[in-house]
Amino acid sequence: MEMFIDGEWRAATSGRSFDILDKSTGVVIDAVPRGSLEDAQIALIAASDAFPAWSRSDPSERSALLRGIASGLRASLSDFASIISAEVGRPMAGCTREVERCADLLDYFADEGDRLFEAWRTSDSESAFVLRQPVGVVVAITPFNMPLTLMIMKVGAALVAGCTVVGKPAEDSPLSTLKLADLAKEAGLPRGVLNVVTGFGAEIGQALVSNPIPAKIAFTGGTAAGRAIAREAVGQMKRLTLELGGQSPAIVCEDADLATAAKAVVRHGFANSGQLCYRVARVLVHEAVADKFTAQMVAETRKLIVGSAHDPQSDLGPVVGERILLAAERHVADARRKGARLLFGGKRLTGGAYDAGCYFAPTILADCTPDMLVMQEEAFSPVIGVQIVTSDEEALEIANGTAFGLAAFVFTADRERAMRLVRDLDAGSVWINDIQRSRHDMPFGGFKMSGLGREKSAHGIEAYLELKTVYFPQ
Ligand code: NAD
Repeated sequence: MEMFIDGEWRAATSGRSFDILDKSTGVVIDAVPRGSLEDAQIALIAASDAFPAWSRSDPSERSALLRGIASGLRASLSDFASIISAEVGRPMAGCTREVERCADLLDYFADEGDRLFEAWRTSDSESAFVLRQPVGVVVAITPFNMPLTLMIMKVGAALVAGCTVVGKPAEDSPLSTLKLADLAKEAGLPRGVLNVVTGFGAEIGQALVSNPIPAKIAFTGGTAAGRAIAREAVGQMKRLTLELGGQSPAIVCEDADLATAAKAVVRHGFANSGQLCYRVARVLVHEAVADKFTAQMVAETRKLIVGSAHDPQSDLGPVVGERILLAAERHVADARRKGARLLFGGKRLTGGAYDAGCYFAPTILADCTPDMLVMQEEAFSPVIGVQIVTSDEEALEIANGTAFGLAAFVFTADRERAMRLVRDLDAGSVWINDIQRSRHDMPFGGFKMSGLGREKSAHGIEAYLELKTVYFPQ
């Protein structure tokens, strides 16, 4: 596929491209342009030219266009799901749910946009009022793991607010975002309002961020890239939303429903083969139930089938590349050297169909301690570390003892105890006694090094608006 700039499909000005692989089979499924500084500039100018008309359009027209894109997504659900399944390596069932939820998210932004603009219009006083104006051109940069969702979280909110966008999907999985641009064109989005460029982060990503045109950078990805982007953006006072890494803890108290907790921790900790920002990465379990709980975790993990994303039997597919395998191996080796016990997995899966992709067995390490990498650093892989704790205070100290603060999970039968833990946890979202999907009408984002600002919900739309206070004579 080519890049989508100013309503047209284009190759890179350099003429260069790179291959996109099916992560389960290693087969090349497409090639996309390797965009660079010139392409970033062309796309940003297109977005800047489109901004005046789009920003002044009636919010209800913008919402109607988003609903059009949502219905286009529903009409081509299986096409989108197949693309994501191949480019990321996730089994189809999860990808189908991702596309359905993306359509719902666009509808949510459309409805919420209508509601917010109406509420703001009627809340002004006689002598002063607040105008909400779109910030300007937005650069939206996304990671590989949930390619459509994370782009739509930005694009949906930005478009409904009246901003124009240049999107830059990850180099591993750009195809679903390019296809989204195609849908937007079909739905009637004016040219230049949504542009999608492709290339490697360090080249075109940096070129987009350092360019003076965008007023806002919305970024989801690793904390290292997020810090580099923040430094550049703050120097130009660009608005920023950063959704970064996580190392999220689950606290399992001695009074918890252990069967439910084990199922939830295993399902969520290994979801998308561990390539999920707010997955359970660490378990802090009370000593009284530690053996029983880890046995239940192992029993749940044993049920998981790891295989090609194209096999309907597979629960977990491959990871996206060698770098994730290396990170997982590093964490396992470090933990074992420091005294952890390997309860399950711990290695690459090889032989037969496994040799066509990068597969890692879901892995549980027990007797972990806070000095182990698995308890501190994000590996973005299917490895969970389990540590025994003797009190809630100790659990909290360890839970909060990393640089991250994206999510946390609490399992206890005592609601007051749960609320005390919730109050003291450094986390942007906390789930109690089960782990269901995050809601579109609730904010999502992190404390500490897990990010800045929130996406989704009304807060997610406000992040694309400037406030202008206007006074009349009294
Ligand atoms: P990554 O940071 O390597 O890349 C993310 C995106 O940034 C890619 O599009 C990449 O090309 C681009 N990029 C990289 N360096 C850049 C730079 N200097 N300037 C501009 N763009 C640059 O992340 P990844 O490996 O694709 O994804 C995994 C990471 O994403 C994990 O850390 C995970 O926790 C995080 N993530 C966070 C959330 C969240 O909501 N907090 C959601 C999903 C993933």
